Amino acid sequence: MSCGVVDKQVSSVYFAGEIVNPTTEYVVLYKDDQVIDSAKLDARNRFNIRFNNASEGLYHFDHSPQFHYVYLEKGDSLNLRLNTIEFDESIVFSGKGAEINNFIVELFLANEEDESIVEQYFTLEPKVFNKKIEQLRKEKIRLLEELLEEVSLSDRATALLKATIDYNAFIYKEKYPFYHRATTHENRLHKLPNNFYDYRKELSLNNRDLIYFRPYYNFMKYHLGNLAYMECEKNCKDLINTSSAVHFNEHKLKLTEALVQEKKLKDNLYRNIVMHYLLKVKDSPENTNLFMNTFYTYSPNNRHMGEITKLHKDIQELQPQKKLPRIELLNTNGMGVHLNEIALEKSAVFYFWSGRYQKHLNRTLAQISQLEKQYPNYSFIGINRNTEYNEWLKIIREKGLNPKNQFRSENFEELKNTLVIDHLNKSIVTHKGFIINGFADLYSLRLK
Ligand SMILES: [Zn+2]
Repeated sequence: MSCGVVDKQVSSVYFAGEIVNPTTEYVVLYKDDQVIDSAKLDARNRFNIRFNNASEGLYHFDHSPQFHYVYLEKGDSLNLRLNTIEFDESIVFSGKGAEINNFIVELFLANEEDESIVEQYFTLEPKVFNKKIEQLRKEKIRLLEELLEEVSLSDRATALLKATIDYNAFIYKEKYPFYHRATTHENRLHKLPNNFYDYRKELSLNNRDLIYFRPYYNFMKYHLGNLAYMECEKNCKDLINTSSAVHFNEHKLKLTEALVQEKKLKDNLYRNIVMHYLLKVKDSPENTNLFMNTFYTYSPNNRHMGEITKLHKDIQELQPQKKLPRIELLNTNGMGVHLNEIALEKSAVFYFWSGRYQKHLNRTLAQISQLEKQYPNYSFIGINRNTEYNEWLKIIREKGLNPKNQFRSENFEELKNTLVIDHLNKSIVTHKGFIINGFADLYSLRLK
């Protein structure tokens, strides 16, 4: 302890590294949902970011389309090396602050391995299952203790690592009754021992540090789903409509309202419930309006409202008998064409591809050539996203595609959002420019 000496500890944070096989030119560093800084890769695919007034905690960096977490505190000088082909598996940190960050990677990879192991466990009886999960959890706690013997971490950093281990284990327990029923084909949910959910007593449902952390957030999703199911089973037995998606998801909204106080977390969870409902349930427009009205009463000031209402509107615009939206595209002659001007004389299937994902492209084209034989009356229209213009033309030539049926979007975000492209095999079926099915899947098409 020295009096009057200015603290010379470096207060800035340095985050640098090398991206092998970059998928974009940038690395963007975030704290929660705020951009801290971004850096452009140089000719050797290196980047560096330095910033001041760092608050200790969890950050993540985005190298689109992927992201990963980093834990940073004042004075850190962290170096990253990552190969996008392997992404998580390839990440290695060095420099000051490396230990905790390498451990986070280790935990993520271990958790991926666990997932396939735990799949086998779901058939087990609850007591045995619980014991197995606890074993997996304790192995990781032991690794954490070993790490703490070698390096000193702050309490906050230690708590984060502990939370990663705990919440990943708790997710399995929240899933258990449903996955057990599904894998054993039992008629009803298995009766659980009284202490099965004991960990819930010590849960923090409002942990500000963890709001944007995947294991915690995923846990919250499964936890709310589990509670919603149990609540409905207990309280709604006499109601007719208990099996409807609107009813079940309204339970989730209600529980989120009751259990979660932290506004950002609450908004994110509401968003997740609504997005899941809109994208996965594909309910009728009437039901959807009903559900959206309930959502608006629960969360009138949701910070994701713009995104949510736009998705709702875009989904409405893709309903049968609507015209395709007017989206600007280019044809193979480099001329502008609008989506709603294509295939107006006949039936068509629109599909989407990118030159970046070779495996997906080859699989898609094999499926298209199969469908073309099966349904000769249809046009199959490929819409490319994100491939550079000349590269796109080259692929069309090499793959022997009919250039008349190929178009390209210069604005992938607009295309993706407006047409609600939420998975790789999304397709749209039209007849003379009118939508027949706006949410078709290339591998389960039912065409006339
Ligand atoms: Zn209910």
